[in-house]
Amino acid sequence: MEINSIVSEIKRLKKEKNAVILAHNYQIPEIQDIADIVGDSLRLSQEAAKTDADIIVFCGVHFMAESAKILSPNKKVLLPAIDAGCPMADMITAESLREYKDKNPKATVVCYVNSSAEVKAECDVCCTSSNALKIVESLESEQILFAPDKNLGSYINDQLKDKQMELWNGFCITHERVREEEIKLIKNKKAGVQVVVHPECNPLVVQHADFVGSTSQILEHIRMSDDKEFIIGTEMGILHTLRKENLYKKFTLLSPALICYNMKKTSLEDVYHVLKTEENEIIVEESIRQKAFTSLNRMLELSKG
Ligand code: SF4
Repeated sequence: MEINSIVSEIKRLKKEKNAVILAHNYQIPEIQDIADIVGDSLRLSQEAAKTDADIIVFCGVHFMAESAKILSPNKKVLLPAIDAGCPMADMITAESLREYKDKNPKATVVCYVNSSAEVKAECDVCCTSSNALKIVESLESEQILFAPDKNLGSYINDQLKDKQMELWNGFCITHERVREEEIKLIKNKKAGVQVVVHPECNPLVVQHADFVGSTSQILEHIRMSDDKEFIIGTEMGILHTLRKENLYKKFTLLSPALICYNMKKTSLEDVYHVLKTEENEIIVEESIRQKAFTSLNRMLELSKG
């Protein structure tokens, strides 16, 4: 089928089945363009939960589709590329976290949303890269474990005044690939141009950045800035939204390594296929879903305060 026919079929099936299509900022441009909502993982799940759709097609990776299911238990959630996982989320399992908790019964476990439903169910509270500092600051526990992203955890530790968290040894293989030499080199070459990076990058890289933020914070920062040129230190998929939203601003990727192959697995054909067949449904066992929901809800409560 030709691209135009696939897009028309997707639109027809979406209407017929009362589906909503979500695309993470790191998806390929064609997927972002057919999505009803483009954004970061938690916002997508929250927005989808507010709709009256019967089906959520989540163009992203496995843990994101699970989050959508956690927040929308009565909707059918489909993941077009069923093998799209997140290596960082896989760096922690519920079993390994239980072992840690057995050895450290007083520790409060803060878990980045980039984790499986089972891991979320084992933690005390979730966080995003936008609200992690606020969540951690609000905790009174003397021992805190931050999992699984040691780079985000280290970025938060640097901002904490009266406590330090233990960090799980996990990381995003995409952001971790950026090297300190690359940011130093580009800052020399393009003196005066703002370098914005995601806190999933290694601390050696983050220390040289002019702005550090989540994908939504990066988008907002650039939208509001009067500067005309930026160097972008997060996954390349974000360039599509940046260029659409900022027609007269120029963007350069900090490193060619900033590509997440799991995020690039979803094709238009995959979206068409799951809409047609309703295959690749994401199931989260109800007792796990409820516990994971509690961890996410606690995050929402604490981030309000
Ligand atoms: S960009 Fe990193 S955290 Fe996001 S899905 Fe890819 S590997 Fe996982």
